[in-house]
Amino acid sequence: MTAPDLFDTHAHLHFPEFAGDLDAVLERARAAGVRRILTIGTDVPTSRAAVAMAAREPDVWAAVGLHPHHAAEADDAVLAEIERLAASAKVVAIGEMGLDYFRNLAPRDAQERVFRSQLGLARRARKPVLIHCRDAHEDTLRLIGETDVRDAGGIMHCFSGDVGIARRCLDLGLLVSLAGPVTYPKPGALPEVARYVPGDRLVVETDCPFLPPQPHRGKRNEPVYLAITAARVAELRGEPLADLAARMSENARALLRL
Ligand SMILES: [Zn+2]
Ligand SMILES: [Zn+2]
Repeated sequence: MTAPDLFDTHAHLHFPEFAGDLDAVLERARAAGVRRILTIGTDVPTSRAAVAMAAREPDVWAAVGLHPHHAAEADDAVLAEIERLAASAKVVAIGEMGLDYFRNLAPRDAQERVFRSQLGLARRARKPVLIHCRDAHEDTLRLIGETDVRDAGGIMHCFSGDVGIARRCLDLGLLVSLAGPVTYPKPGALPEVARYVPGDRLVVETDCPFLPPQPHRGKRNEPVYLAITAARVAELRGEPLADLAARMSENARALLRL
């Protein structure tokens, strides 16, 4: 049996959790069919690390950005550095960016300021946006709508809303990305979302080292487990995994222009 053609659209491979065994992690991922991985910065140091990793690994691309958790420390110099890094080789998207009202690690006004700045930056760079949204759908969707990202598009990463939110994301020009939680025993509205989103607007991700799919919960997540999440989504949609995986990879490649 040949492995499905998988694209991990949201990973943090350059995080310290992978420093000791990155080569083995990449080998396992490749063997499971993960042909491409987008590794994503969350502040200036991790954005630099993402760019460096993409330069070393032929099947890894990078995104640079400021996670809402780091919004309070993001002054003009930090934003300028992200904009500079955005022009590096193999940087194919801007993010992750967005709003997180669940952990609220930065004040909301700072989160909004930094999110808005990066939406503008992505527009100038003509690159897709990678959106993080936790318990903040109304404000997140409003800010995306104000900027209008439809030219370059983007991804609502680790989608956590319901069908109504999914429809609004699609209307704003975003793809919907499902992660490990769709495999959990209490997946909320995610099974319905997995069936609702049109096949040409859906992608999958690990968000590793976070959020491993059900059989690996409590451990470090890694790209090889993307196959479990993709298989669950295919099962929910009643589609063969190989077909869906190839289609989702094509969606990611089209968005990121790979
Ligand atoms: Zn995130
Ligand atoms: Zn992330």
